[in-house]
Amino acid sequence: MNMKVGILGGGQLSKLLAIAGIPMGIECVFYFPEKSHTLHHLGKVIHAPYEAWEALDAFAQQVDVITYENENIPIQTIEYLEKLAPVFPGKQSICVAQDRLLEKNFFLNNDIPTNKFIAINHKKDIELARRILGDQLILKKRTQGYDGKGQIKIDQNVSLADIPAYYLQHTIAEEYVSFDREVSLILARNKHGCVHYDLCENIHENGVLRRTRNIKNDLLLDLAYEHVNKIARALDHVGILTVEFFQVGETLIANEIAPRVHNSGHWTIDACVTSQFANHLRAILGLPLGSAKSLTNAVMFNILSNMPKVETCFVWDELCFYDYEKTPAAGRKLGHITLVDDGNMLFDEHVKKASFLVNGLA
Ligand code: ADP
Ligand code: MG
Repeated sequence: MNMKVGILGGGQLSKLLAIAGIPMGIECVFYFPEKSHTLHHLGKVIHAPYEAWEALDAFAQQVDVITYENENIPIQTIEYLEKLAPVFPGKQSICVAQDRLLEKNFFLNNDIPTNKFIAINHKKDIELARRILGDQLILKKRTQGYDGKGQIKIDQNVSLADIPAYYLQHTIAEEYVSFDREVSLILARNKHGCVHYDLCENIHENGVLRRTRNIKNDLLLDLAYEHVNKIARALDHVGILTVEFFQVGETLIANEIAPRVHNSGHWTIDACVTSQFANHLRAILGLPLGSAKSLTNAVMFNILSNMPKVETCFVWDELCFYDYEKTPAAGRKLGHITLVDDGNMLFDEHVKKASFLVNGLA
């Protein structure tokens, strides 16, 4: 197709985007400052800081459109690039998603239910937070957090003096939610319309996603779609948009948004007509969206910290194995495995076993 996409960020989401582009003849150019050797065989790499204007010029010149794999790219960089090439999702989406305070206010302004919060800029704000939000709360840095990093839970036993100074400014305090379930909905939107995937049911441990399964025709799907569609319209979003929710009873409480392809959508590669990665590329390139319909049930397991033995990754025919080729480190996402259901009754049994194999060795 002779189209070139520039991707900011050098992690596994960039890798999976680039792989999705190959069958469509879409070439990717990567731009990132951190050390990473996992993308070089998938396209040209520009290794430079996000404030290296000349390098950004060279990057923009060689691509048709620019996107990003994480929302922590400096806004200045986005503003600079916008003048040189189309950037999707647009500035509004990334601005709201990269600052938890803006994000929470955005939810309020758009009538999206969210848990109570207050901004923390001083020690005394914590006392106020305790009065308003209750004894159990979570302090989250406004920016740069991911995988549960940059947040701590505090209860009545934690005294003010015990709270690290780091959390006393540029932070939000959030009411702790005793949820029934965590779910996310992934929507792909272009200028003409949108498609959405099945609701994803997510299991986190210590703030890190461990496992996701798609739930066909979930009872809360329509409600989730209503919220996500409203958010996408308000942001005039183009590309994939993911919203994470806490389910409490029959309600969905928005936790956060990601203006990008999302870990809870990796199962779409093996289970859907069009994966989230292929649809993101289609959306940002102004191409028609593909069907987001799932053809099967799937469960995705993140591989953290250590790679399981090779035999484990191929233990059943129904396992699809992805290695991000990263250096192992405690808590790092190194790959994932998707277990695809062929309709047999052993699905739950398989999930338990796969969970044991992956988690047990992680
Ligand atoms: P991150 O950007 O790291 O994904 P999140 O705000 O999504 O940050 O928090 C990570 C996880 O921590 C959530 O998926 C959830 O399991 C837990 N968590 C976060 N905030 C709350 C909360 N207010 N109440 C209960 N659990 C929470
Ligand atoms: Mg999250």
